[in-house]
Amino acid sequence: MKAVVIHEYGGPEVLSLEDVPDPVPGPGEVVVKVHAVSVNRVLDVGVRQGTEKQRGITLPLIPGIDPSGVVHGAGIGVVSPKIGDRVAVLHRIPCGACPQCEAGRTSDCERSETVGIHRPGGDAEFVKVPATSTIALPDDLSFAEASVIARHAPTAFLLLEDRAGLKAGEWVLVMGAAGGLGSFGVQVAKLLGAQVIAGAGSDERVAIGIELGADHGVNYRRFDLAEEVMRITEGRGVDVVFENISDPDIWPQALASLARRGRLVTAGAHGGGTVALDIRHLYHERLRVIGGAGYRREDLDRAMAAAADGKLRAKIAQTLPLSEVARAHRIIETSVPAGKIILDPTRG
Ligand SMILES: [Zn+2]
Repeated sequence: MKAVVIHEYGGPEVLSLEDVPDPVPGPGEVVVKVHAVSVNRVLDVGVRQGTEKQRGITLPLIPGIDPSGVVHGAGIGVVSPKIGDRVAVLHRIPCGACPQCEAGRTSDCERSETVGIHRPGGDAEFVKVPATSTIALPDDLSFAEASVIARHAPTAFLLLEDRAGLKAGEWVLVMGAAGGLGSFGVQVAKLLGAQVIAGAGSDERVAIGIELGADHGVNYRRFDLAEEVMRITEGRGVDVVFENISDPDIWPQALASLARRGRLVTAGAHGGGTVALDIRHLYHERLRVIGGAGYRREDLDRAMAAAADGKLRAKIAQTLPLSEVARAHRIIETSVPAGKIILDPTRG
């Protein structure tokens, strides 16, 4: 099969399209014919550049963390999915044996493997995964949208519902509201009955947050974020901040936007990751800063059910054939596309 292989870290030119042996499903495994896989700033571009080595990457690597497609082969013992089923691949494969997994908290697995990071990913014609690491797709959901929704929406449910304990009627500020995770922060917060402020770094990206359902928007590069949030909430502040930027200039403003007993949930650091934390403000206002990542099976089921009802949308900026993988990486390196860049290996 054709696959993108990274043999050494470097520029987009190290993405080598090669003929490699077709994967063969072992017991309990399926092989999926890939129809869509997204290209991500951290888990594709960063991995290829060599800035994500701390994740335990071994080269050579076939990248691509969120493939979706059609089941092409199944190993011994696989009851479901069946050959011909449309599925999304779940990128984080829990070990099933660590103390967290044994306690049923697979989202907190201590030794999980990530598709496209620790094992061959979806930038290929076929990908092999455990059958349990797939989810059936609603009929009307495109493969491109399925890849993006399965990757981000369940984490938005985990962070907002489980970690932040969001209740209907509460206020939520979503940072990076047009981004991969942020765009689902907006949609899931609305689904849970919250009032939502979309925060983003440009007017165009604030407008995307509003289009996705946010009630208000703030361009935090042009305006003082905390002042604007206090104006919108009539001096009260928001109950929850949904954060995955960790930009040192903006993060303190996001924390200052919280109401008393507010919660800031975070699952990302692509804006830097080291920020100033005003401890006096934290304890005076009884705030909580909560980290989270991954998702539980129930978060995934809820995300797919919402997608089947047409209540979750994924913005797709562009779909390219697998052979244009280097161009896809360059687009992400040199611009901020309004939506995801998708590779479709069935297009060549
Ligand atoms: Zn585990």
